[in-house]
Amino acid sequence: MTQTTRAPRAARKPKPEGQWKVDGREPLNPNEVFKQADDGLNVRARIEEIYSREGFDSIDPNDLHGRFRWWGLYTQRKPGIDGGKTGSLSDAELEDKYFMMRVRLDGGALTREQLRVLGQISADFARDSADVTDRQNIQYHWIRVEDVPEIWRRLEAAGLDTVEACGDVPRVVLGSPLAGVAADEIIDPTPVIEQIKREFIGSPEFSNLPRKYKTAITGHPSLDVVHEINDCAFVGVVHPELGPGYDLWVGGALSVVPFLGKRLGAFVTEEQVPEVWKGVTSIFRDYGYRRLRNRARLKFLVQDWGPEKFRAVLQDEYLGYELADGPAPARSATPGDHVGVHRQKDGRFYIGVAPRVGRVSGQKLLALADVMAKYGSDRLRTTPHQKLVLLDIEEADVENAVADLEALDLQARPSAFRRSTVACTGIEYCKLAIVETKQTASDTIDELERRLDGVELPQPISLHINGCPNSCARIQTADIGLKGQLLPTDDGGQRPGYQVHLGGGLTDDTRAEAELGRTVRGLKVYADDLADYVERLVRRFLAQRTDNETFAEW
Ligand code: SF4
Repeated sequence: MTQTTRAPRAARKPKPEGQWKVDGREPLNPNEVFKQADDGLNVRARIEEIYSREGFDSIDPNDLHGRFRWWGLYTQRKPGIDGGKTGSLSDAELEDKYFMMRVRLDGGALTREQLRVLGQISADFARDSADVTDRQNIQYHWIRVEDVPEIWRRLEAAGLDTVEACGDVPRVVLGSPLAGVAADEIIDPTPVIEQIKREFIGSPEFSNLPRKYKTAITGHPSLDVVHEINDCAFVGVVHPELGPGYDLWVGGALSVVPFLGKRLGAFVTEEQVPEVWKGVTSIFRDYGYRRLRNRARLKFLVQDWGPEKFRAVLQDEYLGYELADGPAPARSATPGDHVGVHRQKDGRFYIGVAPRVGRVSGQKLLALADVMAKYGSDRLRTTPHQKLVLLDIEEADVENAVADLEALDLQARPSAFRRSTVACTGIEYCKLAIVETKQTASDTIDELERRLDGVELPQPISLHINGCPNSCARIQTADIGLKGQLLPTDDGGQRPGYQVHLGGGLTDDTRAEAELGRTVRGLKVYADDLADYVERLVRRFLAQRTDNETFAEW
């Protein structure tokens, strides 16, 4: 038998990923088409001149479901649509004619007067709604497009804005809530956060990125900005020769495919931070994947390139110089949520309080501003843990201030459960949600406080609740993470519940290294049974733990 030799098959050309520097700028999906057709930032003029005058029905769909985000606006879910319908209804069927509006608070920094403006806007235009998000923003609901220009006018008169609060852009820059305040601060990130905001936010240079882009900057040793899950993060360290500066991390993000950020091993001086941020962001813009939305975050490029190549491209193509090698951040010795009463470097005190899973209200914000005025505090910070920190309280006023805050249900000495529970928006307003989150979380906190009253926990056990597989509440970084879904019942129906993830956490005072929580096969819990489940788990941990064992180690 004669053997025929087959001609070698020509190597198949890899599919273009939509990387601008490699594949050109031909848009490869509908989002890229609308972004290229007109910059998202340009929608503001249409909102002011057309949509706010002619009303919701006049809004072009590409603006409504696309470009509005560039100014912090999303349509919200129509009340009463159950989670089983999510994904099967059109936007028009699922959405209300109202908006969620996100006000970006870079570094989480607010003055008392800005707080009053935020509270009054909520009272006047948002049916008194306001949430402190886990990215230090304030979010309203029930906003009408007719009111948006007046809201912007009031925000901007107070030095606040909604620019690039959502969309494929550089979102709010997380910053240490103790910036410039803490006695043990390594470096104050305020100047670099302000410079990044001033020079690059709202600039057409970065208003069309492949996907959202998140930044975090801290100079506090408690590692208080969840740096491992940001696209670009700067973490305060001390270089043995160059002094205080930052350690650079890239490519962290959660969602359905979570990755922790990677250290590049590069030390960044304070002066270098804005141009290094610009370089990393430019790499994302130029080399990020724009074919598939679910592969567009910077994390996928970082996974493919690895930290060495990423650093080389940053230095060779964007900076034109080499960064010094630098040390990694030390393990945190204190919790990064800043709850409680603590002394500042100037001798005054800051008070960190825990609202219920970030939910406040316009009236509560106004009342909080009154408390601040009573004790002479002009500064407030939001935190990436849905907490609030009042600054500059005199020692003699601390206990009275704590009592006044308690009267607003803003607790400076909360239970372990109130302190460490985080919940996303959920089915109340979010169009992607499958189940309810905030009320379930709040009820669960009440139940656990009652049932485990007097039970001493060695440290808080974090409970994070999402309303769908996205991870706005960072479920993979919690001791107990809950992913919302509908669960089958014995009678063939469905009930709201959660897939359980266990054992996650970022680097903090209880764990040396960040770890992503894992799903436990078949471990799901109905929403109604959540308190029972957590109580059982906590009691088992307390009964089984050996000396000094943390929940993370158990
Ligand atoms: Fe909405 Fe899902 Fe994000 Fe919750 S996790 S806010 S339900 S997208």
